[in-house]
Amino acid sequence: MGNVFRGGGQSLHLSNGGTVVFIDVLMLAVSDLADDEWDYRFAALLTLQDQNVMGRGAVGFDLRDIAWGASMVERARSKDFVLRTAALALSRHRWNELEYDPPFARDYLLQFTSMVTSFVPSGGTQLGGGFPSPEERAVASCARHRVLSALPHWEGCFLCNRPESS
Ligand SMILES: [Zn+2]
Repeated sequence: MGNVFRGGGQSLHLSNGGTVVFIDVLMLAVSDLADDEWDYRFAALLTLQDQNVMGRGAVGFDLRDIAWGASMVERARSKDFVLRTAALALSRHRWNELEYDPPFARDYLLQFTSMVTSFVPSGGTQLGGGFPSPEERAVASCARHRVLSALPHWEGCFLCNRPESS
């Protein structure tokens, strides 16, 4: 079992545990970079990759299902935001706040960066594609960890909700 992230003719196959690592490091980066409304929608998409809620091996997304924007300028800006998020994560941003050393996170992020770079966002409405709407964007920020959260986890961020490690 595992999860797949696709786009630009490439795919990133991750184990369930690898998916947790990949999303954790992206969440730490997106929480500090998000500025525009679209950024918070992308952050909400990341929160939806929580396998404790969605099911083990039941997450992953295709870059084609993301509503990148109506105009070319918007789409370019959205893509740049995702690349900046991955780059910040690659700099080991706040990795010291994780209770583990993220194994292979660098490899995942490099593959994801390559995927997004080669992907050409197209226009269209992409309604119902699973990309969070403006109303569903991640607006809450956990006071304890300063990490964004969204439904289904209004009570706290992924660090708050992580089961105690023994
Ligand atoms: Zn928290």
